[in-house]
Amino acid sequence: MKSLEGYATEKLAELARRDLRRSSHVTERCGGMWVMRNGRRLLSFSSNDYLQLSIHPTVCAAAAAAIQRYGTGGGGSYLMTGNHPLYTELEERLAAIKGTEAACVFGSGYLANAGITGALCGRDDLVLVDELAHASMWSGARLSGAATHVYRHNDVDDLARLLREHRAAHARALVLTEGVFSMDGDLAPLPALAKLAAGFDAWLLSDDAHGLGVVGGGRGSAFAHDAAVQVPLQMGTLSKAVGSYGGYVCASRAVIELIKNRARSFVYSTSLPPATVAAAIAALDLIVRDAELVARPIALARRFAARLALPEPAGAIVPLVVGDARSAVAAQQRLEEEGFLVVAIRPPTVPAGTARLRVTFSSGHDEGDVDVLADAMRRVAAA
Ligand SMILES: *Cc1c(COP(=O)(O)O)cnc(C)c1O
Repeated sequence: MKSLEGYATEKLAELARRDLRRSSHVTERCGGMWVMRNGRRLLSFSSNDYLQLSIHPTVCAAAAAAIQRYGTGGGGSYLMTGNHPLYTELEERLAAIKGTEAACVFGSGYLANAGITGALCGRDDLVLVDELAHASMWSGARLSGAATHVYRHNDVDDLARLLREHRAAHARALVLTEGVFSMDGDLAPLPALAKLAAGFDAWLLSDDAHGLGVVGGGRGSAFAHDAAVQVPLQMGTLSKAVGSYGGYVCASRAVIELIKNRARSFVYSTSLPPATVAAAIAALDLIVRDAELVARPIALARRFAARLALPEPAGAIVPLVVGDARSAVAAQQRLEEEGFLVVAIRPPTVPAGTARLRVTFSSGHDEGDVDVLADAMRRVAAA
């Protein structure tokens, strides 16, 4: 026990020395985009609830009704008894939005990525990952045991080089990217990636955690380019713009059946609670119906970027790269003193030397909120 205590204490001290020790602060939502944190009332620009659907009356009512009817828990894994009546409805909604035959719903986006790669690939296979892909995709690649190589961020030529070099030696190949990158906000070049992958008989998975409900008219990043892109594995989460919880992948019927049979994080985990599923269904209905709501976060992100002469963002995320972790945290603190919450993102979430303020916009902000934040950012940058 002594060695365990000693190990934990020493590890934490080492993280603190490198400005990488994380701590969490109780954050209470108190209406719209306002939160209470450390005794301060702050306007938050650090929420992934892009459409405020987690507090939408229709969504909350659907969740409450599902609890009344079905109770609070899933009661078992999907393949045992957890496939309650709302699951099929949610799967059908997701497949319709993404234009696929079928969908599989996981316990979370992390669990989806942790399970999908291993359901499709094993030791004989090849996985190619964008260097900035989310940690959950790296977990999936590692768990699969497949030979894994990294390509430079959004670099189609680098991916082509790796495919030429390695594809022939492996039975199957899978390419993993994000559709809208979570910490940079840029779009993956999906048309070029899809074409390249198809040419090498490699399967493309796009993680659309920050695309669904925000880009492509709400349908996500496969629909945010000139024509709909054929992405055979469209993965995402229900915990961001959808405002609920859970992960999903949309694909052909056969692929979904295989994933439901083989993805360990799906097979061996309890299904989502009925209220969570009901909330997601109600939120997806709103996303499909309300084009004006969906257009808000991008419009606000673009207004903010224009005021600071930053490149035009593709979605709701605007990164302000600071550099070292200490300066990023100091900038966050100065913004808090001005009444804003913009959480600093540090390594290993982002590469070393690129610690940043990640600003996210939501339909709950208005133009005035955006402008006062932009002014505060200028003051903080000047300080
Ligand atoms: C948030 C996120 C996930 C994880 O989804 P959860 O449902 O929160 O587990 C996966 N990929 C990306 C790109 C994300 O931003």
